[in-house]
Amino acid sequence: MLHLLLQIAASGTTLVLLGTGTPRPDPDASGPATAVVVGNRTFLFDAGPGVMRQLAAAKLPINGVAALFITHLHSDHTLGLPDLIFTSWVMGRQTPLVAFGPRGLRAMTDHIIEAWKEDIAIREDGLEKEVPGGYRVSAREISTRVLYDSAGVRVLAIPVEHGDWTEAYGYRIETPGKVIVVSGDTRPSAALEAAARGADILVHEVYPEGRLAPEPRPGGQSWPAYMRAFHTSDVEVGRLAAAAKPKLLILNHIVRMQGTDEELLAGVKRGGFTGRTVIGHDLERY
Ligand SMILES: [Zn+2]
Ligand SMILES: [Zn+2]
Repeated sequence: MLHLLLQIAASGTTLVLLGTGTPRPDPDASGPATAVVVGNRTFLFDAGPGVMRQLAAAKLPINGVAALFITHLHSDHTLGLPDLIFTSWVMGRQTPLVAFGPRGLRAMTDHIIEAWKEDIAIREDGLEKEVPGGYRVSAREISTRVLYDSAGVRVLAIPVEHGDWTEAYGYRIETPGKVIVVSGDTRPSAALEAAARGADILVHEVYPEGRLAPEPRPGGQSWPAYMRAFHTSDVEVGRLAAAAKPKLLILNHIVRMQGTDEELLAGVKRGGFTGRTVIGHDLERY
C-alpha cells in the first residue's frame, strides 16, 4: 500500500515557469525556460539567460536535467545553454546532457564546448579534478515526432511557424497526471492548435494586438510585419484556445509594447476563449 502511494506521489506532474521573459533583460522575468517535473525527472524546455539560477531558485536539479528540449535557436532561448552545460558539470553532472532541438543544435553545442576549451582543460587537469568529460552533450536534432517515451512520459515535437526560421518547435508533454503543451515562439499554428486539443495546460507566447505599430528606429517600419510573421497576438491566442479548449491557458514570453495584463486578457476573450487564463510569472508552479 505504501509502495503504491509512493508511486502515485512520484508520478505527480508540476509545471514550473522558470523564465517568462523575452530578449529584453527584465530583472523580474528571466530568459525563456520552462520545466515539467514528473516525480524525480525534470524536463526543461529552452535555456534562456538565467536558467541555472532559476533552476536553483525553484529547487530543481542543478546537476543535470532528464532532458532538454530547445524550441528554436534564437539567442533569447539559447543564451543559457553554455551555463546549463558547464555549471551542471561543475555541480556534479557526469553523464551527457540529452538535448533535443532543430537542425543546427549540434553545431551550436560543439561551438560552445570549443569556446570554453581552456576552462575545460583547467577544470579537468588542474586541482578542481572535475569528472573528465562530464560537460558532454548528446545533441539530437529532431527527425521524429515522438522524442521521448519512457516510464509514463512522452514528449512530442510540434513543428510551428516562426517567421524565417526553417525549423521551430512547440512541444506536447504527456505524463500520467497531465497533458501540457508549450508553444515556443510561433505565429498562429494549426499544428499547435491540434496538439493542444483538450490539454490540461497550454503555455503560449503572446503580444497585445492593439499595441502593434511601426517603431521609431531604422528598420522599425517592418516591426508590425515581423510580429505578424513570427509571433501570435492576444486575439489570435484567444481564437486558437477557443478551438483547442485547454483547461488552463498561461500567457508567456509577452512582448508587451506597453500593453497591460488587462489588455492581454481582454484580447484573449475577444478572440473567443472564455476559459481560465493567467499571465505567467517566473517561478510560478501549476
Ligand atoms: Zn523568443
Ligand atoms: Zn524566437
